Amino acid sequence: MDIQERAWMEIDTHALIQNYQNLISFLPKDTGCICIVKANGYGHDAVQEALILQQQGAHFFGVATLAEAVQLKEANIKGDILILGHTLPRQMKELAQYDLIQTVGDVAYGYQLAEEAKRLEARVRIHLKIDTGMHRLGIDHRLSMDTLKALIEQPSLKLEGCFSHFACADSVDENDVAFTHQQAEKFAEWVKRARLAHIPVGKLHLSASAAIVNYPEFQWDYCRPGILLLGFDSGDMKHPYERNQVLSIYAKVTKIDVLPKQETIGYGRTYQAKQLRKVATISIGYGDGIPRNYQNGEVLIRDARCPIIGRISMDQLCCDVTDLPEVALFDLVTIIGNDQKESIRLEEMANKCGTITNEIVTHFSNRLPRIYR
Ligand SMILES: *Cc1c(COP(=O)(O)O)cnc(C)c1O
Repeated sequence: MDIQERAWMEIDTHALIQNYQNLISFLPKDTGCICIVKANGYGHDAVQEALILQQQGAHFFGVATLAEAVQLKEANIKGDILILGHTLPRQMKELAQYDLIQTVGDVAYGYQLAEEAKRLEARVRIHLKIDTGMHRLGIDHRLSMDTLKALIEQPSLKLEGCFSHFACADSVDENDVAFTHQQAEKFAEWVKRARLAHIPVGKLHLSASAAIVNYPEFQWDYCRPGILLLGFDSGDMKHPYERNQVLSIYAKVTKIDVLPKQETIGYGRTYQAKQLRKVATISIGYGDGIPRNYQNGEVLIRDARCPIIGRISMDQLCCDVTDLPEVALFDLVTIIGNDQKESIRLEEMANKCGTITNEIVTHFSNRLPRIYR
């Protein structure tokens, strides 16, 4: 079967490598990367992405769930894998079996994990997540070091690192910048106190994509880039940082027809032709992850921007090709990516849909084959 017959995603391997290399040369020499490939590598295929990064020397990966971590291990990813989210203590066996590192962002949870590891005569590798103001997951930075010490001295726990996470490093707003500085200071102070209390903190890490670019002064042993590797904007950048969009999405023209004056098109009859229009039907829809509210969006056909008209359906959408006389059946349609001169970036789609690139990119469905080039 020709997987390029309907709709598909292409991943530019070279762009991914370029982004990784750019990042490595941007970082201080002694700062490493925990490459975050959660949510199936932000929809790019986590296994493929991690294999390519591994070839480039990446040896530490981060995911959100146990299942994501196991998938990487089974695919022969050799490096360390940190689970950023919660794993049920009763899944302790898998954590040990696959030699994974579990985030502990709560003291009671830490004890549960320790208990379960002890029962299995295992030792679980952990990173402590310290809350410095995000208030989502994390141990309060003000918690007494004695309490923390009692936890990490559980023989079934092996503390290998500590980290925190910024709430608004992607904003250049004055208050947000001040808050980010406070978080960084709280983390630095916490590290100092932990060391004074003889807690073997292990590897330290703080910055995700936005902070890596906006606050290069806050680097520790590792940083945690996710979206940056894929070349998308993540909020506001304080200064230019070169990155290449890794992903393109394509579909095909499956029908060309005229829409007579006053006729409507699609579900709900939301678009009515004021004059005769020429319309192309495109083989992609919200079932592939194109947001249904991308109503004012455009697609590229033969290097021309063609407005989407009517409601986007589950499997198809329609666009106005009145100004494109040469359009032909089975023409390639660029939904995201570069044509000759024109291009549509994911940021454009995200802006028009009132959301961020991260959300859109994790919603592209499995119906789109991922083709690595
Ligand atoms: C998702 C996540 C990251 C990566 O975030 P990006 O903005 O994509 O770089 C880093 N750290 C934690 C804790 C995360 O949850």
